[in-house]
Amino acid sequence: MKNYINGEWRDSSNKEVLNKYNPSTGELIDTFPAATKTDVDDAMDSSEDAFDSWSSLGTQARAKILYSAYNLIEEKRGELENLLTIEAGKIKREAKDEVDGVLDQLQYYAEFERKLTGDIVEGSNSKRKIFQYKVPYGIVVAITPWNFPAAMVIRKLAPALLTGNTVILKPSSDTPLMAQWIVNKFIDAGIPKGVLNLITGKGSEIGDYIVNHKKVSLVTMTGSTPIGQRIMQNASNNMAKLILELGGKAPFMVWKDADIERTLKSLVWAKYLNVGQSCIAAERLYIHEDIYDDFMKKFVNVTKRLTVGNPETSDIGPLINGGALGSMEDVVKNARESGYKIATGGNRPSLEGNYKNGYFFEPTIIEDVNQDSPLFQTEIFGPIIGTEKVSDIDELYKKANDSRYGLASYLFTEDPELMFDAAEKIKFGELYINMPGPEASQGYHTGFRLTGQGGEGSVYGINEYLKVKNVYVDYSKKPLNINTINNDVFNDL
Ligand code: NAP
Repeated sequence: MKNYINGEWRDSSNKEVLNKYNPSTGELIDTFPAATKTDVDDAMDSSEDAFDSWSSLGTQARAKILYSAYNLIEEKRGELENLLTIEAGKIKREAKDEVDGVLDQLQYYAEFERKLTGDIVEGSNSKRKIFQYKVPYGIVVAITPWNFPAAMVIRKLAPALLTGNTVILKPSSDTPLMAQWIVNKFIDAGIPKGVLNLITGKGSEIGDYIVNHKKVSLVTMTGSTPIGQRIMQNASNNMAKLILELGGKAPFMVWKDADIERTLKSLVWAKYLNVGQSCIAAERLYIHEDIYDDFMKKFVNVTKRLTVGNPETSDIGPLINGGALGSMEDVVKNARESGYKIATGGNRPSLEGNYKNGYFFEPTIIEDVNQDSPLFQTEIFGPIIGTEKVSDIDELYKKANDSRYGLASYLFTEDPELMFDAAEKIKFGELYINMPGPEASQGYHTGFRLTGQGGEGSVYGINEYLKVKNVYVDYSKKPLNINTINNDVFNDL
């Protein structure tokens, strides 16, 4: 694959490439450019040149391009679903679901074409007004992760472009092909030269240079907390606005009156979706002591029935790469050393043929985890969950809120009083009551604490890409009298 800079597909300026492997088989599927500083400079120049005409084009004209991209993606959605399986290891049902999400978001943001508003505020008298325009920032750098590689790209491109910003997309090095496929659809939809540039390459090598670049006005990044913190430091050089969607450690709370089947279905979704590689994945399971044994028995049984292997036919596909697989092995090793009971899983499955070199790991449940253990304090990002018994509601809230992350949380109860009490007391950007995720386009996906700042979706999310410009106007035509100056000096002019 190639980078897309200033309206043309290009190799990196020094021709260097990186490899992309299929996570199910470990086979090489393609190479992609390792962008250089020269490539980044070219992309920035091109984005800057394109900004004035793009930002003054008008929202409806820009929305047309989003609608065209929607149609082109929908027409070839089978290709995108296949790519999600080959490049990211998605099982078939999840690949389809992600493409549905891509289309939903494109449509949602395009529909803002006639909904963006500014304000007119009364000035210091009735003939004075302050016009508050919402204007785009300029060059937006969009940095995306691999876990929902198509949806995350669209969730940034659609609002940034609709609002009149130009965008430099830097996708994860684990999913560059997906970004290329999507950029191609925007090109076919008629995106003008320079409005959208694609830069690939290792974040650890080129990321600092991109974020530090003096032409950048906004950085929107989804990824891990440590990289988000690094981006925050780098962005300060330029005072670039930040939208950071970072790690999570969702508590999944099961009260004694929960509807068990509904809860189990939601839990299997929240834990094993995308092999647990989801920012809203359930990572800490708190169960009321009265139902603990029964609930655990059922959860373990259901988990054992999930098939792991070929993503075309299984319930659980591979992890994204060898590093992620190694981390799961470390989590289980540490749990064993800490004396925890592994209720099920804990190993790499033995698979045949092509899949024996894939990055597969069994869904794993670790019992009676201590609240202070790394299992309950650091993001696992895989198909492993720890459980703990709770006996009273204050203990539940205290433990659930005891996390440096603050993205998703889940509660299952039939008691309305408890639902509203939890809505007040649970300190997370999202609380799902009696339902699984994911977040909706019309919700504001945002996290507290180390999960970052800003958010995506809803009118709040689209406004993240607009800044406010104030224009003061006096249309009274009356003589101007300023209290703080001697107005006599203006006599007889
Ligand atoms: P990651 O390792 O932090 O990478 C995210 C992106 O940052 C990648 O494109 C990466 O490029 C790039 N990057 C790395 N170093 C950089 C630097 N110095 N400057 C600029 N960019 C740099 O995260 P990931 O492994 O892809 O994704 C998993 C994480 O994302 C998890 O923590 C998950 O919770 C989080 N996540 C959060 C949300 C949310 O909405 N809150 C949603 C999805 C995922 P390379 O790939 O080239 O290294």
